[in-house]
Formats: sequence, C-alpha cells, structure tokens
Amino acid sequence: MATEFNFIKSLEKSYDSHPAVCYYCGKPLSFKKFYKQYEVPQKFCSKKCKNSYAKETSDTLKTSEEFSSQTERAIYTFLTLQYPSYVVKHNLKDVYPPYEIDMCVETNEFPIYLEYNGNLHWSNSRKRQLNDKIKKDELCARRQLKLVRLWSEIGIYSRPSVFNEALKKLKEEIDTLIKNNINGGKCIEIVVDKNEEFHRYTEEF
Ligand SMILES: [Zn+2]
Repeated sequence: MATEFNFIKSLEKSYDSHPAVCYYCGKPLSFKKFYKQYEVPQKFCSKKCKNSYAKETSDTLKTSEEFSSQTERAIYTFLTLQYPSYVVKHNLKDVYPPYEIDMCVETNEFPIYLEYNGNLHWSNSRKRQLNDKIKKDELCARRQLKLVRLWSEIGIYSRPSVFNEALKKLKEEIDTLIKNNINGGKCIEIVVDKNEEFHRYTEEF
C-alpha cells in the first residue's frame, strides 16, 4: 500500500468512520479492498461475492477494476480528491474510438483530457514517442481541446517524491487551464527522464 502518499493516507483516515460495504453481502470493506476497486461503483469483499452477484443478476455493470497500473489508480484517486466538484472520468472509450483516453476532468468550461505513459524510451526515440501524434492531432488540432500528458522513463510510483512532484505539476497545469479559460487546442507534455528530472513542452493549436 502506498502509504507514502499523503492524499491516500488522508483518504484512509476518513475512510474508517464510513467504510464502503460489499455490494453483495453488505460486509464493510477494508480500506485496501476499497482502494483496489476505487474506480468502480460496485465493490465486493471477495471474488466469491463478485461471482455470486454476477451470476444472480447477469448484471453488465462494471464490476472489475479498470486500471492496469497502481500509478493510474493513484493519479485518478488524486484527481477525484483534488476536484470534488468536477466529474473525473477514466478509460474513456467513446471520445475517439478505437482509441482509449486515460482520464478526463470535466470542468465547467471544457474537458481536460489526461494521459499517462510510463514506458517512455526517450533517448532512443524521443521524437517518435513524444510525437504520438494521432490523439494530439485529433483532440488538440482538429477539435481544439486540451490534453495534458505525463510521460515517464522510470517507474514513478515507487519513487514517492518524484510521483508527488508529478502530481503537483499535473494539478498546476489543470488549474492554469481552468483559470485562464482560453479557447483553442492545447497540448501540455510533462516528461520525467531517467535522472528524475522534469521537462515541460507545450503546443498550441
Ligand atoms: Zn461480500
């Protein structure tokens, strides 16, 4: 459990007084189980309960966790805690099919799309990787929307100080976009290189 992250720690602190309960049997969930299923509305205490529920109801609602990495779940959790008055979506499949957009903060003015890529190989193919032009062209250039991308050459989840810094920068970018409220496409890329240094690139469309 990433107890080094303050925002998760404070979430856990407030959790114990109002724990979530298993959607099937009603048993209170430990924080660990709650957090592992943070992004899905129906949470279960065990595989058994989850399967029983699925069998009884043939429910097609999402009942399994969506995030493939701890990093993504932590980013999502962070955003929901930072922006309680906005809807924060994840794994968006209907924005630009067949592509998936990792997350979106629905502000009052415009959606801010967010992507995380923890497999950047910057030195060899910086241009190709950072290019990843398809989504940028469609969302920022053609649709004039905002996209913020966090790229990393190293695992940032296991480096709490780097991860906290990345989250701070992510929030600063989102806050600035909201505050300035300027129309037009914009792509902001935050890159963490293998020396744990941050780089920032922006493009306007
Ligand atoms: Zn249960």
